[in-house]
Amino acid sequence: MIELSGLTKRYGLKTAVRELTCVIRPGLVTGFLGPNGAGKSTTMRMILGLDRPTAGRALVEGRPYARLIDPLTVVGALLEARSVHPGRTAYHHLLCLAQSNGIPRRRVGEVLDLVGLGAVGTRRPKGFSLGMGQRLGIASALLGDPRILIFDEPVNGLDPEGIHWVRNLIRRLASEGRTVFVSSHLMSEMALTADHLIVIGQGQLLADTSMAGFIEENARSYTRVRSPDREGLLDALTHAGLDAVPSRDPGAEGAWELEGDRTAAVGELAADRRLVLHELGHHRASLEEAFMRLTSQSVEYQAHVGAEEG
Ligand code: ADP
Repeated sequence: MIELSGLTKRYGLKTAVRELTCVIRPGLVTGFLGPNGAGKSTTMRMILGLDRPTAGRALVEGRPYARLIDPLTVVGALLEARSVHPGRTAYHHLLCLAQSNGIPRRRVGEVLDLVGLGAVGTRRPKGFSLGMGQRLGIASALLGDPRILIFDEPVNGLDPEGIHWVRNLIRRLASEGRTVFVSSHLMSEMALTADHLIVIGQGQLLADTSMAGFIEENARSYTRVRSPDREGLLDALTHAGLDAVPSRDPGAEGAWELEGDRTAAVGELAADRRLVLHELGHHRASLEEAFMRLTSQSVEYQAHVGAEEG
């Protein structure tokens, strides 16, 4: 379990993370979602003791990272900026890490096999592709067989096969009862991987919800209908007991929206009343849209601040 309470990080005047309070539970993949610059990496670095909170705290299995005994056996991490000594082979890199953390040598071979680098473990990381570098980073995270795993944007830059592999691995680690905390700026990616979501914008908590709850709330299904006789259409809908509200979509001015798929009912009603329709369709709001809506203010704010600074 990871517990954040009032976690705050300021860099000079800039508040990167603001009073973040939440719990990341075992046995689930928790997606950590937010636009670029929202404060995800900073939060993860504070959990891992790589950055000092300005206020609040981050606990890993009940303790601050700095007070963990054999930290690699408690929490493993893949951060975006990976540091692999370019002169070392993958095997040697992992062996050094194992030896300085009291992890048995045999574990090195095990994790190399686990991430599919068994055959290339004696090659130097310099000659590694991005995907292989990512696998080596994941092997380092898994070395101590930790109960908690933290992955910062693990699929960035990977090819479809690599993305698929990382997704399956992440799901498997959670199904083994581990705490898995994965950041991404892509809702579509999280929708396929996460059970639970923590969304931040401008360093602040925007949502802490199950993925199923987020989908139910945000991926709403609705019918959109538009007629040149806008009021006549509303009158007909209301008389037929069909509740309609004006569309808030900027691209659908003058249209009405009804919950769920009512296209058949509306089409038949329009024919009966000889109403001309310019549009009638069933829509489903995408999770990406819902995410953009949730975080749009923080993005606009950042763009604005950026413009002022420039
Ligand atoms: P994310 O991982 O969500 O993209 P980050 O945690 O990297 O976001 O950054 C959050 C904010 O904090 C950004 O505005 C970034 O510019 C700022 N920031 C991060 N690290 C530093 C630092 N070392 N010094 C100053 N500002 C920083």
